[in-house]
Amino acid sequence: MKETTIAAISTAYGEAGIGIVRMSGPDSLAVLRKVFVPHVCRKSRDAAAGFDYMPRHMYYGQAVAADGSAIDECLAVYMPGPYSYTGEDVVELQCHGSVISYKKILSAFLDAGAVPAERGEFTKRAFMKGKLDLAQAEAVIDLIKARGTKGFECALDQYSGSLSEKVKSIRSGLMDVLVQLTVNMDYPDEDIEQVVYTDLLNRISLIDDEILKLKDSSNEGRILKEGLKVAIVGKPNVGKSSVLNMLLGADRSIVTDVPGTTRDTIEEQIALRGITVCFVDTAGIHESDDKVESIGIERSKDAFNKADLVLLVLDASRELEAEDRQLLELSKGRPVIIISNKQDLIDKPAEKEEKLAAAVETLLGSKADIVRIAAIRGEGLELLEDKIEEFVTGGKVRREDDVIVTNVRHARLLEQAHAELAQAAGMVKAGEAMDFVEVNIRSAFDFLGEIIGETAGDEVLTEVFSRFCLGK
Ligand code: GDP
Repeated sequence: MKETTIAAISTAYGEAGIGIVRMSGPDSLAVLRKVFVPHVCRKSRDAAAGFDYMPRHMYYGQAVAADGSAIDECLAVYMPGPYSYTGEDVVELQCHGSVISYKKILSAFLDAGAVPAERGEFTKRAFMKGKLDLAQAEAVIDLIKARGTKGFECALDQYSGSLSEKVKSIRSGLMDVLVQLTVNMDYPDEDIEQVVYTDLLNRISLIDDEILKLKDSSNEGRILKEGLKVAIVGKPNVGKSSVLNMLLGADRSIVTDVPGTTRDTIEEQIALRGITVCFVDTAGIHESDDKVESIGIERSKDAFNKADLVLLVLDASRELEAEDRQLLELSKGRPVIIISNKQDLIDKPAEKEEKLAAAVETLLGSKADIVRIAAIRGEGLELLEDKIEEFVTGGKVRREDDVIVTNVRHARLLEQAHAELAQAAGMVKAGEAMDFVEVNIRSAFDFLGEIIGETAGDEVLTEVFSRFCLGK
């Protein structure tokens, strides 16, 4: 069956400087010749129909409808496969950034033989043609949807193939193990020496470590991709609003007007050292501002459930009260940063610090790092930002070449591969037959293959590409 030629509006649907409508497929050039009249053809559609486009050169001219009426002044470029995004013949038409123009050009493409593209179909075709593997294709959507610079950098890294390379190298290690197993199985009568088992176990464990390391990066990856949800809790008047304002004041650049986010669900956002931080449940803060009433333990529980990280604010100038204690107890074993605010009001800081640290330790049941600030003066901001950043990165200094997993699908597959290897290791230890061990290792190999799409079925592909936008 002949491949179709797909067309879609690729730029955002709305007013803009320019817009791009694009096509991919074997008839792209033929359709372009019907719809676009290069300036050098002097308005002759016959001349346009036979025009010889130089690959990857821009042509100025006019887009025309099927009835010959002018649509818009445009720039056209023809990129023959395989040197294109999809690996097929691709055409892009740049027009004025008007919805009228986009729609008319798209209609003209469809009238001339193209069909409307499905969500993510350009990228799906790139995957099918082997231009990208599945992990790289998924990185495309992460690039588009990235909310912070770090998330974007991560996506770009994956798009360039960093995760795929890592997965391929782990799979190649597993393939070596499979080969070794086969050799041993081919000589079943020979006694398999202990040294073979020990060596096998070592190799499985080394590979499993790499899988776990990747999997462990996925929490950080999720936060980089989706943003860190932070709630600020504390009894009234401790300075929650002031802490929020201090953090917001540091960078208001992406606080508003982020397309696709509504003010109802995400109240305030900042970019903190390249990490998007979304403050949840800030309504509670403002409410307690007016009424000076307890925000209530229930509400704080809710905040703990909603947030990735809770900032628990205490007032350094006052003794701990029942509500502070309750909140500290609630924080036990939870992701929390304890803030001792209003440092400017205390005269013997060292003494107070010790006392507070001891009380907090008793209530939390473990030593806690307390961040000392004076929110109203903006003092301690750096320190607080350090702690928040540390929370996301796990306090580890990441090496340049460390790969971070940002995709839930990938994390799940890594988990499954790990479970298979753990089982395989158990069997090797128990001295089970090699062919049993092989089954688990092969499954691990296949799970990893699903990350890059080598062993992914149609359902997975449909699921992945349905999350794309039209025109990508
Ligand atoms: P919230 O009820 O927890 O949101 O507390 P607010 O942020 O509204 O602060 C309560 C009061 O404490 C206000 O009068 C603030 O000006 C004051 N306040 C907040 N932070 C500080 C601080 O670091 N030092 C001092 N001296 N006052 C502060």
